[in-house]
Amino acid sequence: MAHLQLKHIYKTYGDGTNAVEDFNLEVRDKEFIVLVGPSGCGKSTTLRMIAGLEEISSGELLMDEVLVNQLKPKDRNIAMVFQNYALYPHLSIYDNIAFNLRLQKVAKKEINRRVVRIAEILDLTKYLNKKPDFLSGGQRQRVALGRAIVRDAKVFLLDEPLSNLDAKLRMQMRTEIILLHKRLQTTTIYVTHDQTEALTMASRIVVMNNGKIMQIGTPHEVYEKP
Ligand code: ADP
Ligand code: ADP
Repeated sequence: MAHLQLKHIYKTYGDGTNAVEDFNLEVRDKEFIVLVGPSGCGKSTTLRMIAGLEEISSGELLMDEVLVNQLKPKDRNIAMVFQNYALYPHLSIYDNIAFNLRLQKVAKKEINRRVVRIAEILDLTKYLNKKPDFLSGGQRQRVALGRAIVRDAKVFLLDEPLSNLDAKLRMQMRTEIILLHKRLQTTTIYVTHDQTEALTMASRIVVMNNGKIMQIGTPHEVYEKP
């Protein structure tokens, strides 16, 4: 269960850049929001504020009706996947996926249960003992996804997670993420440049420009204007 409310969110960086202005959005439980807009319009900044990696200049961020502006990233129960999903090259796939759980001192048995389950979902079971070098780009991307979702986060934030992949892998991974969302039903905000991704994945699309929301609607409403 995760319901997000962003109320009059602003972000001004130290150098005076107004990256986000009066961002208002309610993300319903289980929703898959796709955030689109030109480079520099404030998409990453918005995700980073939700994750707690960037301070909110003003406005309110609520998670399940609780104000979380001041919570540290680790206390927000949010998992984020970045564009360049660096894995730990010297660790096995198992240990890459288990890494954050170990940091959180999750019990060993529970770590094993979750890593095995995630590996099954992402079709990585055969590779648990391998190092990242052994895997293809798409498999490595799945490991990065696994590392994020293994935490049972309430909210999933993805910042152009497929932009480094070739067209074929991008298509496979798109399907993969759609299936994963069907299965886990985690509230998701997904940033992309790719209109096909937006069309096929979104329950609602948020269009940003110049730090502001220009439009919010279903894929049909956004891309097939009357
Ligand atoms: P997008 O993800 O849509 O490409 P960003 O959120 O990265 O946009 O950037 C929004 C604006 O904020 C841009 O003008 C960018 O140059 C600026 N910006 C991003 N990060 C910083 C930072 N750490 N310091 C100053 N300005 C930044
Ligand atoms: P211990 O720390 O007691 O040796 P762990 O449960 O941490 O036990 O497992 C040791 C190592 O074995 C892990 O770091 C991991 O690399 C590997 N491992 C454990 N379970 C599996 C599994 N189901 N599949 C693949 N590798 C595993």
